[in-house]
Amino acid sequence: MSQTIAVIRGDGIGPEIVDSVLRVLEALQVGFDYDFVEAGVSAQQKSGELLPQATVDAIARHRVALKGPLMTPIGGGFSSLNVELRKRFDLYANVRPAITFPGTRSRYEDIDIITVRENTEGAYGSEGQTLSEDGEVAQSLIRNTRHGCERIVRYAFDLAMRQRRRKVTAVHKANIMKTTSGLFLKVARDVAREYPDIAFNEMIVDNTCMQLVMNPQQFDVIVTTNLFGDIISDLCAGLVGGLGLAPGANIGADAAIFEAVHGSAPDIAGKGIANPCALLLGAAQMLSHLNLESEATRVRDSIRSTLQARDRLTPDLGGSGTTTTFTDALIERV
Ligand code: NAD
Repeated sequence: MSQTIAVIRGDGIGPEIVDSVLRVLEALQVGFDYDFVEAGVSAQQKSGELLPQATVDAIARHRVALKGPLMTPIGGGFSSLNVELRKRFDLYANVRPAITFPGTRSRYEDIDIITVRENTEGAYGSEGQTLSEDGEVAQSLIRNTRHGCERIVRYAFDLAMRQRRRKVTAVHKANIMKTTSGLFLKVARDVAREYPDIAFNEMIVDNTCMQLVMNPQQFDVIVTTNLFGDIISDLCAGLVGGLGLAPGANIGADAAIFEAVHGSAPDIAGKGIANPCALLLGAAQMLSHLNLESEATRVRDSIRSTLQARDRLTPDLGGSGTTTTFTDALIERV
């Protein structure tokens, strides 16, 4: 039975880059079917709802979604929609690869780091947030569970196994946050013992930041809690030249949503010059997730060789191509 993907075209440049990605997937002949659904501002304009039930149902049914960027609606917020999807589908793993591509501006070479960030608990939970009546004292709760720590660490090791990676680094602050970060570290050590073929090391988060800047090539897969992962994944994107080639996946047991890290780029929407690579790399993550590893590699290699040849690149990459001609160049190499 062929796989159906729920596709949210999104706002701004979303439709342009989604169409480009679908053309590349077509060229791979993976035989996907697509169920086009709406979310965000475009959905609100049509149905009055930011997240229509039909969209939720489609993601639940197909279990895999490809999502274009969504504009922040006035009076609401993209983050709330993101949080809503994360909550509805318990998308506990935020997986963000940072890979060096030729011809992109960066101080570093040969970086290939995947940050696996816990996405549902830790310091970003909404529980226990209080502000005293006089506004002088704000406090919130950090809540980690053994279950939450275990599934994220296991996800990181399974990903390392699947992608034949050599090392998982657990990033923590257990020297100071002895209970919450301590639990994460203890669970990480326990889970690591089940994966003797993958090297395991642990590193305190502040040292990790310094090490990432001084010697990033030592890292392979990083697994960490919500707040640290949010920060570290952006640091890693910076190491490879910013968000232009940065994809992200939100993965749960029952559903997974793949996207670009960048937004809807209203300044260039409709001009036909959007760079589709970040979402295309999100699609490569989707292919890996569906055990289509060789197709995922073909996508990444086509991006690499097109950038190397500087063939029909979009203006953000220093070229004078369009989304369409750049996509043609990618398809010729896929
Ligand atoms: P943005 O990422 O949309 O754009 C920042 C700059 O990068 C702009 O100059 C834009 O033209 C450029 N850019 C981004 N993607 C590009 C691409 N693929 N090709 C070429 N240039 C690209 O950030 P913003 O302007 O701060 O946000 C615009 C909207 O997107 C806001 O409504 C924001 O809330 C939303 N947003 C959505 C997501 C998401 O859905 N994942 C993420 C971030 C921001």
